[in-house]
Amino acid sequence: MTNQVFGIDLGTTYSAIAYINDFGNAEVLRNREGDETTPSVVFFESETNFVVGKEAKNAILVNQDATVSLIKRHMGTAFTQQFFGTAFGPEGISAIILKDLVDYAKEASGVDTDKVVITVPAYFGLAEKEATRQAGVAAGLDVVGIVTEPVAAALSVGITGEETRTLFVYDLGGGTFDCTVMRVSPGVIEVIGIDGNRLLGGADWDARLFALLNEKFIAQAGLDDDPTTDEDFAQDLMTKVEETKKTLSSRERTSVTLRFGDTLEKVEVTRAEFEEATRTLVDQTLEIARRALDTAREKQPGLEIDDVLLVGGSSRMPVIEKSLQNELGWTLRKTELDLAVAKGAAIYGNAGLAFAETIASGDSSADDLGTDEKKFLLGTSTVEIRNVLSRSLGVQFVRRDPAAPNGWTPYVDFSAHGNDSLPLDAVFQGSTVSDGTTELEIHIFEQNSPVENEAPSENREVTPPEGAVLRNLPHLSADSTIEFELHIDAEGHATLTAYEPTSAQRIEMHVSLAVLQDEDVQQLKQTIAGMTRSA
Ligand code: AMP
Repeated sequence: MTNQVFGIDLGTTYSAIAYINDFGNAEVLRNREGDETTPSVVFFESETNFVVGKEAKNAILVNQDATVSLIKRHMGTAFTQQFFGTAFGPEGISAIILKDLVDYAKEASGVDTDKVVITVPAYFGLAEKEATRQAGVAAGLDVVGIVTEPVAAALSVGITGEETRTLFVYDLGGGTFDCTVMRVSPGVIEVIGIDGNRLLGGADWDARLFALLNEKFIAQAGLDDDPTTDEDFAQDLMTKVEETKKTLSSRERTSVTLRFGDTLEKVEVTRAEFEEATRTLVDQTLEIARRALDTAREKQPGLEIDDVLLVGGSSRMPVIEKSLQNELGWTLRKTELDLAVAKGAAIYGNAGLAFAETIASGDSSADDLGTDEKKFLLGTSTVEIRNVLSRSLGVQFVRRDPAAPNGWTPYVDFSAHGNDSLPLDAVFQGSTVSDGTTELEIHIFEQNSPVENEAPSENREVTPPEGAVLRNLPHLSADSTIEFELHIDAEGHATLTAYEPTSAQRIEMHVSLAVLQDEDVQQLKQTIAGMTRSA
């Protein structure tokens, strides 16, 4: 067992794994097929056999029911699917992908370690981060860290310079879009603001190209009906779409041959046509980028962007660079797009270990660490990473409402807001609504929509599963004060304390992080340990 840590970019559509090679550089390890990225797709061949990657992606066409893709979109939810009698949630499917990546990476690199750092999008809330960690545990791995993708991307381009620079990370992947503004100064990476759309990514460009090619085929062949109602035609077109899109990133025009019944047509498509059909998608990313910038400027007036980092496979489309240059006036610094995040994770993981070793050996540079701060050694310097809260957090209260059946309407009062700097503390008060109150049930919610919405149904409840009840209250009269204190640490873990001053009754609760309990994770670990990759 070595002291190495694998860095894993567990992506929505593609994943990658990196390590620190003998020369001390982060290097992405190629998979069995010789590719640097692996489709995040699992195909269940039997109860105990699975396939991950390109082969699994191809299996979608012939065996859709036994194939799972885009599982990252369900991370942190109770979504499950049955395969050969076993139910798998997002943790289980992700665990299979992780296991497969690490098993082969060990073989390819000769590095025998189970230690990993896994990356997550900046907008992932607590439940999604915890589900990602649990996926690693279920894969039999030792998850030494979870790091956000933009921070990993920044680490991959080297951040130990002398200057302070403000970075904008534009990350357009296969299924998600993420923007992050961060300030990098010697020794500190401070995330200032994040924004994004978790349902916008390369797959949307594929869908537009699918429609465009289909339209052209119909016109060329003079068809009256839509050929995509035919499953074979639709699947054939779908497989050709992604390749065509990629070709259009390097060539001005290309063609696809499509067959429907006896009709065979060679359909030509130009980059200009593709860009026209997808213009509104690019515009959506620009609008989000401007919003991220505005948020950052609200926190730090006058902030200017020094470097723009392009990340994510879909940033290869030339229109992205062109639009950011023309419409936002930005000059870009390219990263290795789909490899930067995995490399940054490996750098983070190995720096983290160096730091742990430094503490163990009593190095004085570790003495001034605040407990809430994370510091890592990169080379010879220490880097502290300061994050922001990804989603707002609040407690449910009620307000008088004559129209409501019982005269009260519940709403969520957010006391910590997305993009607040971490760690943070918030103090607030509530009051009882009826005389003779002896117990108060507390409900905590995490924002679950792109902007704050006070309706409880629009949020995700994160109250501990056992519930949170402030008991033994001394028959409080209406309008008695209850005090709340919310503490969120540097990693985003939240603790809420509710306190009733006259009786000194107090309850402290940790917001519920996970869908799975520890026993479930151990059970899943056993199931996955009993499964093997098909040869
Ligand atoms: P990621 O999840 O960051 O690896 O991004 C994967 C996405 O990037 C998928 O939607 C791919 O189709 C897309 N992609 C990869 N290469 C290219 C390319 N050359 N041109 C356009 N899109 C690409």
